[in-house]
Amino acid sequence: MDAQTLFTLMFDLYRDGGRQGPGGETETRRALELTRLRVTDALRVADIGCGTGASTLVLANQLPCSQITAVDLFPEFLEVLQHRADAAGCLKRIETRAESMDSLSFAAESLDLIWSEGAIYNIGFRKGLEAWRPFLKPGGVLAVSEITWLHPNPPEEILQHWNSEYPEIATAADKIGTLESAGYDLIGYFVLPASCWLSNYYEATEARISAFLARHADKPEATQVAEMERHESELYRRFQNWFSYGFYVTRRR
Ligand code: SAH
Repeated sequence: MDAQTLFTLMFDLYRDGGRQGPGGETETRRALELTRLRVTDALRVADIGCGTGASTLVLANQLPCSQITAVDLFPEFLEVLQHRADAAGCLKRIETRAESMDSLSFAAESLDLIWSEGAIYNIGFRKGLEAWRPFLKPGGVLAVSEITWLHPNPPEEILQHWNSEYPEIATAADKIGTLESAGYDLIGYFVLPASCWLSNYYEATEARISAFLARHADKPEATQVAEMERHESELYRRFQNWFSYGFYVTRRR
């Protein structure tokens, strides 16, 4: 399947889901509490890899005096985000930027808070940490969710899957070591519960699959996309005790 067809189909499947990766409103709020930022401050915030704004909208709601820049590679997601922000009455405080997370255009030391849920893996954890640090004010906060082994020595099948999908997957101890060597101190950590993967993401996606296949009845590639989604959710269901997203809340040293 060519990249354009894949993107068009993925966009069509995920655009209306509210979120494009595992996560949840409760968990976004929990991570925000761990930042210990004063929520009424006029904070400068960036949400990197924001998709259609699942976390951006929670942040805008919880940080009523903040200015948020929502960044995603795909303007199609940002358009949906703008509509949602408009409906939520916070469009004025959200600027959208279509750019890649490995070449962000923020001024040095301009941000109080960098947020990123289920997205840093696109450029890799270490690379993202290094690329984004200069944009944070000293003492500024980075809150990021990242695929994490919940125990050492996972079974071969899931180990091989992740080694081919994202070899940077590691235990929390290793991830925290990476954060510390990249110039951040950990101030909070928790693991996304299964509900963030199942009810909020896979089951929500599965509920849209039959309409998706009907819309693209003429395209065999749509069946392939549905099959990829089914395979991924099955792996999660079978191996959910072994991996999840860890939510790392850190302060720039
Ligand atoms: N944070 C959102 C989306 C997670 S999915 C949520 O939790 O729902 C990952 C997002 O990263 C997608 O929206 C994808 O378009 C975006 N993305 C992928 N590569 C990117 C890049 N190089 N730069 C910026 N965004 C990217």
